[in-house]
Amino acid sequence: MSEDFYDVLGVSPDASAEDIKQAYRKKATEYHPDVSDDPDAEEKFKKIQKAKQVLTDEEKRQAYDRMGHDRFEQAEKHGFDAGAGGDPFGGMGGGGMGGGLGDIFEQVFGGGMGGRGRSRPRKGRDLRTGLEIDLEEAFSGAKKQFTVERPEACDTCDGEGHPPDADARSCPECQGRGQVTQVQQTPLGRVQQTTTCPRCEGAGTLYSETCSDCRGEGYTREEATLTVDVPAGIRDGQTLRMEREGAPSPDGGPRGDLLIDVSIRAHPEFDRDGDDLRYRLPISFPQATFGDTVEVPTLEGAVEFEVPRATQSGETFRLEGKGMPRLQRRGHGDLYVQVQIVTPENLNEEQREALEAFAEAGGEEIDVKEGFFEKIKRTF
Ligand SMILES: [Zn+2]
Ligand SMILES: [Zn+2]
Repeated sequence: MSEDFYDVLGVSPDASAEDIKQAYRKKATEYHPDVSDDPDAEEKFKKIQKAKQVLTDEEKRQAYDRMGHDRFEQAEKHGFDAGAGGDPFGGMGGGGMGGGLGDIFEQVFGGGMGGRGRSRPRKGRDLRTGLEIDLEEAFSGAKKQFTVERPEACDTCDGEGHPPDADARSCPECQGRGQVTQVQQTPLGRVQQTTTCPRCEGAGTLYSETCSDCRGEGYTREEATLTVDVPAGIRDGQTLRMEREGAPSPDGGPRGDLLIDVSIRAHPEFDRDGDDLRYRLPISFPQATFGDTVEVPTLEGAVEFEVPRATQSGETFRLEGKGMPRLQRRGHGDLYVQVQIVTPENLNEEQREALEAFAEAGGEEIDVKEGFFEKIKRTF
């Protein structure tokens, strides 16, 4: 039994439930063992029955579409061997199989076989959202909770867009085809263009009533709270993908994915350069001159740093492995510490005198501005 169930019934994979029932009645009459002359009639009749049984059950049909013929049959067989045994499709009703199949489907899909399946299920749309994190979170990795607005199948109409008892009629604009063809006369000749029917929006069917909750869309926008794992080392502008958290499928297939564009807030102390960090360390002129042990912040806490003697302003030192973790790799970037010598803005009398003496001792001639050292100008 490796023949595709749609082929067995002679219907297309997107046939409606009604088409399938009709095709089944026709085939069943043709191959009923009591009336058919075909020597394989009994075998064929069984296949037809089985195909109908699966394809007219929404849940089973969805599973069949998703898994494909062979995997579906395997899953089914596996489950029944463990259960009642024997041929589950021996009888017409299939009364005993419901529970068994349900169990298998829950194992295979982790439960939740919602939605409806008219045709082979399509994946829902991918959605996109943004997430802002701190550099600290990018450093250590974080579980971030956020909310996102996304479409959900309308509860009121079960995603159909119309009340269940609404009258259906074929769209007169497109004769139920869902598409309209327009012919335009252009300077280059006649151009034929086929577009989605504007009246029924491609559905081919019009309903006497529209669902008031979703205005016929079949979807409402709902807020969802999700948690995403932000990996350590992520960079500004990178995108995370949460599988199956996007828009629901229009026909019972899997949800689309949710893409999360990550942006990292500017840090008050560190600039990031790839996996490296840059930090400006302010030190005084005496510290730069004599050298000193100072604390330098890192994203893992402060570390001690030896300012060497005679450090020049703008000199840069590398603290190995104190930068950002490398995304999905081992190790860290480096922390570059750039020293900035801070010129004092306000000096007390004692400092002023000391500094003047210092300049004099070095043979410098300084043109001191009114009252204060607004600027020290070296004159050679
Ligand atoms: Zn139409
Ligand atoms: Zn609705």
